[in-house]
Amino acid sequence: MSQNQKTSQNQTTEVVWRNVVLMLYIHISGLYGVYLIATGRVYLRTIIFHFITGYLASFGVTAGAHRLWSHRSYKATLPLRILLAILQTMACQNSIHEWCRDHRVHHKFTETNADPHNALRGFFFSHVGWLLVKKHDDVKNKGKSVSLTDLEADPVVMFQQKYFAPLTLFFCFILPWYIPVRLWGEDRWLCWNMVLWRYMILLNFTWCVNSVAHLWGDRPYDKNINPAESKLVSVLTGGEGWHNYHHVFPWDYKAAELPTYGFNWSTGFIDFFAWIGWAYDLKTVSKKRVLQRVNRTGDGSHLMSKMEAETEDSTVENKEIDVVYTRAG
Ligand SMILES: [Zn+2]
Ligand SMILES: [Zn+2]
Repeated sequence: MSQNQKTSQNQTTEVVWRNVVLMLYIHISGLYGVYLIATGRVYLRTIIFHFITGYLASFGVTAGAHRLWSHRSYKATLPLRILLAILQTMACQNSIHEWCRDHRVHHKFTETNADPHNALRGFFFSHVGWLLVKKHDDVKNKGKSVSLTDLEADPVVMFQQKYFAPLTLFFCFILPWYIPVRLWGEDRWLCWNMVLWRYMILLNFTWCVNSVAHLWGDRPYDKNINPAESKLVSVLTGGEGWHNYHHVFPWDYKAAELPTYGFNWSTGFIDFFAWIGWAYDLKTVSKKRVLQRVNRTGDGSHLMSKMEAETEDSTVENKEIDVVYTRAG
């Protein structure tokens, strides 16, 4: 090991106490929300309302910040980009620009010190700990090699970045608090805790992609990497838990091989907008290419492994991407 590596790995971890206090508050208040639901102290309408707004916000993260802006796995018209930006703002997981920067760095330097939520540092660090400490120097230094020019050329992304604080305050906290209070007379204090309950749930579900789906599960596409297939995480995140596939084929708009929406509602969301013409140039991977990879580097857990290996057509090797929708936006 070189001296540089030693220094790099021995870097002391500096706690960001402001974030620790914030996270503690969110989780204490969110757990009080669990108590309110369990004891029937809030209207059923309030629970359903926050469930729906939580789901909508999650699409802003999965179909928006992740599959559209981080990976460019499809293209979106201006109305869809505005809708996704609003939904992503409702989730309050940093601005799209910052979210994508961290995520691109994560893909490029997975499981190294330059990975913002390096899963080799354990479950807690990859789940939430990375938000409670100062970023490792490698994240900042090596992260500079990741291009963000496409994001900086998108006025929707840059508008949200510029006004992120007031926008997220309004869309993530004030509006979802005000609507149940105004429309059906929910108690103001209890409703505030329900807002934080929804926020806490969505944060933890998203974080599971970085923690659970990097630690436990099958690796049918590449057994040499940590990201794994997690049905549980896919259920929690609307289809983001098929993480071994996603790290092998990050440009696939489905973020999974699945042909159905059962565990991948985010794909259904994108397909719906493709159907009405707001999403287009959806990229995916041919079945033959997937099988080639399964047979070459998979751990043998893929249902189709080996069976179709012999029938592979070598000419598909160069065909990385199939564009399944090309409707102009
Ligand atoms: Zn990952
Ligand atoms: Zn990704």
